Amino acid sequence: MKTALIVGSGLAGISVFCRLRSRGIKATIISYRSLGSSSSIATGMYNPIVFRRVAKSWMIDDLLPVLHEFYSELETTFGIYINQSIKFKRRIPNSDYEGMWNKHALKSDFQSFIDQAENGFGNVKRAGIIDCHKLVSTFEKHASENGFLLNESFGYNHLELGEIISYKGKTYDTVFFCEGPHAVENPYFNWLPFNVCKGEWIIIKTEKELDSAVINNVVNIIPLGERRYKLSSTCSWKELDWNSTSEAEKELCSAFKEVYDCNYEIVDRAAGLRPTVADRRPYLGEHPEHRGLYIFNGLGSKGVMLAPYFSQHLVDHMLDGKPLIPEVDIQRHAKRYWNRANDQSHD
Ligand SMILES: Cc1cc2nc3c(=O)[nH]c(=O)nc-3n(C[C@H](O)[C@H](O)[C@H](O)COP(=O)(O)OP(=O)(O)OC[C@H]3O[C@@H](n4cnc5c(N)ncnc54)[C@H](O)[C@@H]3O)c2cc1C
Repeated sequence: MKTALIVGSGLAGISVFCRLRSRGIKATIISYRSLGSSSSIATGMYNPIVFRRVAKSWMIDDLLPVLHEFYSELETTFGIYINQSIKFKRRIPNSDYEGMWNKHALKSDFQSFIDQAENGFGNVKRAGIIDCHKLVSTFEKHASENGFLLNESFGYNHLELGEIISYKGKTYDTVFFCEGPHAVENPYFNWLPFNVCKGEWIIIKTEKELDSAVINNVVNIIPLGERRYKLSSTCSWKELDWNSTSEAEKELCSAFKEVYDCNYEIVDRAAGLRPTVADRRPYLGEHPEHRGLYIFNGLGSKGVMLAPYFSQHLVDHMLDGKPLIPEVDIQRHAKRYWNRANDQSHD
């Protein structure tokens, strides 16, 4: 039986683990909880529309069916409920935007995703929320109990490469690096251009009950029950750490106040890093020089939608030799960044 080692148990690592297992490959995961996991704090929304330009999200017609199948299998395996469909409305800020929205709503390929704007809001269909925190914690508990997951930091200096790959005395056919925003520390793949972005959310408790739909006013206002609402999320390239900031709180609260006139108190908050890349396409593929070392990363702000489809794409590529689509293949950056990094190391 073939064996694989996976580094990271976020959406990327979990999805690769499931794809490998379903192809009969014995996979072990090393993931260190204390490092911080983007997936554990992700709001988990999937949204078929890019609001800024009222466009369909990249590859949405391919991604959505795989998303539902993948999370539904996990729900069955673990006996949990994680995929919630939502009522979702985009606030229409002005008449120009309303014109653009309504023009798209008339197009046949948009009709299963948006309706004509009404009373200052545009209705978005087929959106939902994956409870990522529940998914990661349930998976990690199950995997630890069954001996597939080691909660420890991966030591890159213990990895031995060659005909056979070994890590701390154990041999593997392949290693998948799924470290999310921590990939910048990976000596084998840190030549890839990452553009890590910080995200924050807060939870507020309001004095009165608000709309039961999720409202997007750049920030999403998500009803959680008992007059609690999650305001999610910000995007910043400053202070790239896992600490909450007063700037983000201000930004989230001001987006809320544009929609609702109502008193509230902040009851919870979180901050984390997204594994964002400049061209907004995930990173998939084998290391240009070291056979058997793969990366699955760059899920950015869309891990929920991208992980199910592209984990399958990567494993099909590795096992069956199916070509990767060029937009996600790390080869797109090899010429510019790998060669240069390699040249410099020989200077
Ligand atoms: C505030 C916020 C809100 C978000 N909301 C959404 C949303 O609504 N919808 C959406 O689709 N996406 C959202 N995202 C983005 C989403 O979280 C990411 O796309 C996704 O979680 C990335 O998954 P990943 O597995 O690549 O990385 P991670 O989830 O970060 O997983 C990487 C794992 O690798 C482990 N690791 C790293 N290095 C090592 C090492 N050396 N040794 C051992 N373990 C290691 C880490 O501990 C971690 O567990 C949000 C992100 C943030 C920050």
